[in-house]
Amino acid sequence: MRSRPINPAIPLALLCLIVLFSGCSRPPQSRTGFALATLCTITLYDSHRPQVFQEIFRRLGEIENLMSPHISESDVDRINKASGKNPVKVHPDVFYIVEQALRYAELSEGAFDPAVGPLTSLWGIGFDNQQVPSQEEIDRVLPLINWKDIELDYENSTVFLKRPGMALDLGAIAKGYAADEVSAIIKKAGIPRAIIDLGGNILLVGEKKDKTPWKVGIQDPAESRGSYIGTVQVKDDSVVTSGVYERFFTSGGTTYHHLFSPQNGYPARNDLLSVTIITGVSAAADALSTAVFVMGYEKGRALAESMDGVEAIFVFQDQSIRLTGGVDFRPIDDSYRVVDTFSFLR
Ligand code: ADP
Ligand code: MG
Repeated sequence: MRSRPINPAIPLALLCLIVLFSGCSRPPQSRTGFALATLCTITLYDSHRPQVFQEIFRRLGEIENLMSPHISESDVDRINKASGKNPVKVHPDVFYIVEQALRYAELSEGAFDPAVGPLTSLWGIGFDNQQVPSQEEIDRVLPLINWKDIELDYENSTVFLKRPGMALDLGAIAKGYAADEVSAIIKKAGIPRAIIDLGGNILLVGEKKDKTPWKVGIQDPAESRGSYIGTVQVKDDSVVTSGVYERFFTSGGTTYHHLFSPQNGYPARNDLLSVTIITGVSAAADALSTAVFVMGYEKGRALAESMDGVEAIFVFQDQSIRLTGGVDFRPIDDSYRVVDTFSFLR
C-alpha cells in the first residue's frame, strides 16, 4: 500500500491547537501590596482579568479602614471611643466580624477575646512603646478584658462596649476575614485558582491545574520568616499559624510575644511554639489559631477536634510536633519530630 502524502493542513491545525492551548494557560500573575499592617501577595492562575487586582486591593483597604483601631474614625476606633457611653452604628462587615469574634470567644471560653485591646495597647508589642507593664497597670486593665461586656444590637446594627476604657482589637481575626473576602472576589471573577497570602495568613482557591493539592510551608517557629519545618497538602483551604515568633521583644532575658492570656494579662505561656489551623474559612482558621494557642495543647486540641473540617498542627518547645487526624504533613528534615499522639496521651 502506498503511503499517502501528509496533508499540509494537518500540521498547521496542530500548531493552531497548541497556540490556542498555551493561550488558555497563562503564567500566574502576582501583586504584592501593604494592607492590614502587613505584606499581602495575591497570585492568580489562569486569570484573564488583571483588573481584579485593583478590586482586591481596594477591598483590603476598605476592610482596614473599617477595622483598624489605629485609623482615626474607623468603625473600631469609633466603637472604642464610645466605650462606656453609647452604642455605635457600624458597617455590616464590622457587625459580622464582631459577631464571629464573640462566637470564638464563647467557644474558647474567653481564651480568644476581641476585647483584648487595652492589653495590646499597654504592652505595645511591635510598636515603639513596647514595654513590660507593671503588675498594677495589668491589674487595672484586666477587668476591661471581657467579651461578655460587648453588646450587639441586631436591629440597629450597633456595637457597644459597656465599660469605659474597653477597646476592641480584631487583630486575630481580621486578616482571615479579609482573605475570605478576597477569595469571594476571585471566585466571582471566574478565576479558578489562586493563592491569597495576607502576611502568612494563607487561603488557597481551588486546586492546582494537574488536580494535585497545593503544598503550603509551615514556618519554623525558631527561625525567621521563610524557613519551614515541613509542608501540608491542601485544596481550597486556609492555613493560618499563630506563633511566639510573629511579634515579640526581649526584656531582662525574657521573651514576650503578642498572644495574650486574657486571664492574667501576660503573653500566654505554655509548652507550645505555634499552632497552625487548617480549615475552609480563613476567618475561622485565623481566630482558632489564636484561640487554640492561648488555650494550650489539651484544651485547644479538644476544641479543634470538636469542630467539623478543622485540623491542627501543634509545634512544641521541645521540637516535637503533634497533628490532628486529617493533616497531610510532610517534614522537611528531622530537626522536629512528629510524635504519635496516642503514645503521648497514654
Ligand atoms: P498575627 O496577626 O500576628 O498573624 P494572630 O492572628 O494570632 O497573629 O493575632 C494576634 C493579634 O491578636 C495580637 O497582635 C493582638 O492584636 C490580638 N490578640 C492577642 N491576644 C489575643 C487574645 N487572647 N484574643 C484575641 N485577640 C488577641
Ligand atoms: Mg489569628
